[in-house]
Amino acid sequence: MYTIKKFLKNMVSTNSSFKEKREQMVKTQLIARDIVDEEVLHAMAKVPRHEFLPADLWSRAYDDMPLPIDDMQTISQPYIVAYMIQALSIKKGDRILEVGTGSGYQTALLAEIHEKVYTVEIRTQLAHKALKKLNELGYGDRVKLHIADGSIGYEEEAPFDGIIVAAATFDIPEPLIKQLAEKGKIIIPIGGADVQTLVRATKVNGKLIEEELFQCMFVPLVRQKFENN
Ligand code: SAH
Repeated sequence: MYTIKKFLKNMVSTNSSFKEKREQMVKTQLIARDIVDEEVLHAMAKVPRHEFLPADLWSRAYDDMPLPIDDMQTISQPYIVAYMIQALSIKKGDRILEVGTGSGYQTALLAEIHEKVYTVEIRTQLAHKALKKLNELGYGDRVKLHIADGSIGYEEEAPFDGIIVAAATFDIPEPLIKQLAEKGKIIIPIGGADVQTLVRATKVNGKLIEEELFQCMFVPLVRQKFENN
């Protein structure tokens, strides 16, 4: 008979095996590459990535790859998420904007490091689901989620010291440049639908200095005309 006791025991062992998988992920996918930021590594070892995925993908939650979420969107590969957060080189107290909440996974990682994270998602259902999960996992107080077209930024909460855009576009949207603080950094995939270049731009004397980081693949950044579901 499947008793509650057995169920709970099973749950504990599942959770501890997820923890082991996360630690393994941190070692083999992050430290073995070039993720050195202790806060990023700590957050990656802590945030349960599987919780942001449909249950049938839990067994693959800590694999070295992006995975599908709802609405034909994707949760990025763990390394890319860690890399983008590290590349922002954010300090405690910095104001952070994320464009493209998606599942909320990256939002949770940012909220592990920061007291307040502003995030914008254009797809209503994804936004509600992400917020529910973030609340459930205890990140609710640290996250302010706005359902809107993030290519116009989040004017009311600007300026930001760091902006992470998790969807691809041909150029850096002007409002995001405006809403970036002096010395602030934006990380954004630039390019067409097939492949993009991950770009980091730093605002110096009001102008952007751009660095190309590496090739990547993100879903497209959609603009306001998008029919909300
Ligand atoms: N970082 C996310 C993955 C994001 S996938 C995670 O950890 O799960 C990209 C997300 O950007 C999708 O959810 C998509 O709906 C959203 N998106 C696309 N265009 C957008 C826009 N203009 N404003 C806000 N969100 C947008």
